[in-house]
Amino acid sequence: MEFDGSVLIRSTADLKMSTEVQHTQRVTLHCRQCSTVLGDSLGVCGEVKRLDSIICLKVTNDVVVSYATASREGEMANCIYSSLKCCCCRSAVGIVIHSAPSRLAAVRSMFLLYKPNISCYILDSSSMVTASALTFDTKTCKESMNEVRQQLEAQLQQMLRVKSRLDDSSITAEINK
Ligand SMILES: [Zn+2]
Repeated sequence: MEFDGSVLIRSTADLKMSTEVQHTQRVTLHCRQCSTVLGDSLGVCGEVKRLDSIICLKVTNDVVVSYATASREGEMANCIYSSLKCCCCRSAVGIVIHSAPSRLAAVRSMFLLYKPNISCYILDSSSMVTASALTFDTKTCKESMNEVRQQLEAQLQQMLRVKSRLDDSSITAEINK
């Protein structure tokens, strides 16, 4: 890699930000150690707070999936998972869970990038921050459905107003005949 990414990371590592990554905000995800690109915000679909990890549907080919292992304790108790490593510097960047109890069942087979080991490059502001400075929460299905319902109800009211105006004008036209 041409540029020394560590300088960029150091200069902004202490930046206090509480930025929610919105759908419109474009972010690339990097290995914090060597700045290799591991994914981007288009593949992100939330975060698991209890594992301090970003949930990704896809990652780049620079993420290496290691052999599966089982855990007996902690948050990963009774899970079978593989570690994810950066192919360039071999540092651990996350996990992918193959088998898990119900509390983690929703994130099985997804790539979970460990936030403290990930840096984010925010395209809009051209700045590099630690992933821990950002939140990757996504709206729940219920919240999205409520928004759509409100929009549809507003459109329905608008159409009813237009219809009643048309009805009024047709009556007036009848009278004027
Ligand atoms: Zn790396």
